[in-house]
Amino acid sequence: MNAPTPAAHLAPVVTARPVPQAFLDALKARFGANCSTALVVREQHGRDESAFAPVPPPSAVIFAECTQDVADAVKLASDYKVPVIPFGVGSSLEGHLLAVQGGISIDLTRMNKVLAINAEDLTVTVQPGVTRKQLNEEIKSTGLFFPIDPGADATIGGMSATRASGTNAVRYGTMRENVLALEVVTASGEIIRTGTRAKKSSAGYDLTRLFVGSEGTLGVMTEVTVKLYPLPEAISAAICSFPSIEAAVQTVIQVIQLGVPIARVELIDHNTVRMVNAYAKLGLREEPMLLMEFHGSPAGVKEQAETVQELASDHGGNAFEWATTPEERTRLWTARHNAYFAALQSRPGCRAISTDTCVPISKLADCLLDSVTETEASGLPYFLVGHVGDGNFHFGYLIDPEVPSEREVAEDLNYKLVSRALRLGGTCTGEHGIGLHKIGARGCRRPELQACEPRLAPWRHLHGRAWHWSAQNRFLSDRSGGWRRQHDAHLEASLGSSQHHEPWQNLSLKKGPAGPFSWHSKVCIQAANFSRFCFALGAQFVNQAIEFIERSKLD
Ligand SMILES: Cc1cc2nc3c(=O)[nH]c(=O)nc-3n(C[C@H](O)[C@H](O)[C@H](O)COP(=O)(O)OP(=O)(O)OC[C@H]3O[C@@H](n4cnc5c(N)ncnc54)[C@H](O)[C@@H]3O)c2cc1C
Repeated sequence: MNAPTPAAHLAPVVTARPVPQAFLDALKARFGANCSTALVVREQHGRDESAFAPVPPPSAVIFAECTQDVADAVKLASDYKVPVIPFGVGSSLEGHLLAVQGGISIDLTRMNKVLAINAEDLTVTVQPGVTRKQLNEEIKSTGLFFPIDPGADATIGGMSATRASGTNAVRYGTMRENVLALEVVTASGEIIRTGTRAKKSSAGYDLTRLFVGSEGTLGVMTEVTVKLYPLPEAISAAICSFPSIEAAVQTVIQVIQLGVPIARVELIDHNTVRMVNAYAKLGLREEPMLLMEFHGSPAGVKEQAETVQELASDHGGNAFEWATTPEERTRLWTARHNAYFAALQSRPGCRAISTDTCVPISKLADCLLDSVTETEASGLPYFLVGHVGDGNFHFGYLIDPEVPSEREVAEDLNYKLVSRALRLGGTCTGEHGIGLHKIGARGCRRPELQACEPRLAPWRHLHGRAWHWSAQNRFLSDRSGGWRRQHDAHLEASLGSSQHHEPWQNLSLKKGPAGPFSWHSKVCIQAANFSRFCFALGAQFVNQAIEFIERSKLD
C-alpha cells in the first residue's frame, strides 16, 4: 500500500464544515451499531491510495446495508448541510476520499449482493459494494465475464463513480461503455433510476453517463447494471522488447489502425523492466516492452499474435514470446503485475506520486518521449506503465517523503505532463479521475457539469468538493505543490461561508489580497465570470435534466 506523505507543509487545505452534535445523535439513533465514530474506523475511511498528507478524518462512518440506509443518511446530511463521502474500498489514487471539508463517510461494502444475472441479455445488476473479482467469481458458471480491470479489486460502485478502465479497455471499453443503468440516491436523499437494461435508448438525456464518472459529487449509486461478455474460447499472451519507446508505440499504433482486436496491450519502459527484474528475478531484456493479450477462437488468437509479431519486427521488436496456457500467460504478464510493487521496493521508504493522462493515439509517441526526457532530466526515480492501446499512460514518481523538494519536483513534472497532454488534444486524466489532485486542471470542467452541480448537489454536501473552477483552483495556480497555497484561503473562506446562500452565489468571489497573488485573484474572477457564462449556457440543459430526474423518481 502506498502511504500518505507525513510532511505537514504539503497537507491539503482543510476547511472543515461544522458537523453538529445533533446530526451525529440523529445518525446514532437511526443507524445504531452501523454508525461508527471510532477513530481507527474514521481514519481508515479518510484516505485513499494516494500519497497526499493525511487530513482529519470524517466525523462518522455509516455502514449502509440497503438503499434506504443511504437515502436516510444523505437526507439527514442534507438537512444539516454536512458533506457526505461515499466509500468503496478506497483504492482511488487522486485524493478522492480525503475529508477536506469534513463530513461523514458512507461505506458501501456491505451492499455487496449480486441482484440479478440476466445471462441471455448479457447483463448483471449488482449492489455498489460488489467487487469486480467477486462479480466474476459469482458469474463464472454462466460462461460470461465482466472485463473491466483497474488492477485493484475495486467495487463496481467505485469503478462507476471514477469511470474506471484499465488493461482490457482497448477491447471492451471503460465503465462509460459498460454501465447500462443505475439506481442513485440524489443529493437530497431521493432515490432515482437512470437507464434500462436495453442495449440502447434514445429517450432523452443520458443521465447514466452524467453520474458515471461524477466521483460521488452528484449522488450515491446504490445499484449498477453492467454489460457482460462471453468468456473467450481461447486466450493467448505475448511479450516483445523494443529498441525504443517510439518503436513500441509505433507498433501499437499500427496494430490499432489495422483493426487487430487486441484485448490488452501494455507498455513498460526499460526503467520499469529493470525494477521488476530486481524484484521478481525475471531476467528480461532491460528495454521497453509490450505485453499483450488476444481473445477469440484458437485460430483467431494465433492469427492475431502472428500479425502483431510481424508488425513488431518491422519496428525492431525482438524476443517475441507468446503462450496460451494459463500458467505460461501468467508468467509472461508477471512483469506488468509486479510493476507497481517492484517500483516501490526499488527505493525503500519512498512514496509513489502517480500521474494519469490520455492522448489521441497518434500523439502518444510525442507525449511519451518528451515526458520521459523531462523526467530523466529531473533526476527523480520513476516508473512508466501505459495502457497504450488507448493512448493512456502513468508515470509514478518515487519520492522521499522526508524531502519536500522531491514532492515539488514531482508535482511540477505532473503539471507539465498534463499541460502537454492537453496541448496534444488529450485529457488530464484517462481513468483515475479528478479527485482533489486535478481540480482546476483545464479540461476537467465541462460547462454542462458546472451548470448541473449547483442544481443536483445544491449544498455541495456530496463530498463538499464541487468541481467549480473557482472552488479550489489549485492545479492551475500552483504548479509545484498544489497544496501549499495559503493565498487561496480567502477563496475557500468565501465559498465556505456561502453554504447557506443560494448555491450559485458561490460564484461571487471576493477580490483576493493585493501583492504577489493579485494575478491569481484576477484569474479566479475571470474564471468565475466564465462559470457564470457557462451556467447561463447550460441552464436550459439543466432545467430539462432536472425535469427528467423528477420523472425518474421512484414512488
Ligand atoms: C495499484 C493500483 C492500480 C490501479 N490501476 C488502475 C487502472 O488501471 N485503471 C483505473 O481506472 N483505476 C486504477 N486504479 C484506481 C482505482 O482502483 C479506481 O479508481 C477504482 O475505480 C476505485 O474504486 P473503489 O471501490 O476503490 O472506490 P473508492 O476509492 O472507495 O472511491 C472512489 C471515488 O468514488 C466515489 N464512490 C465510491 N463508491 C461510490 C458509489 N457507490 N456512489 C457514488 N460514488 C462512489 C468515492 O466517493 C470516491 O470519490 C488503481 C489503483 C491502485 C491502487
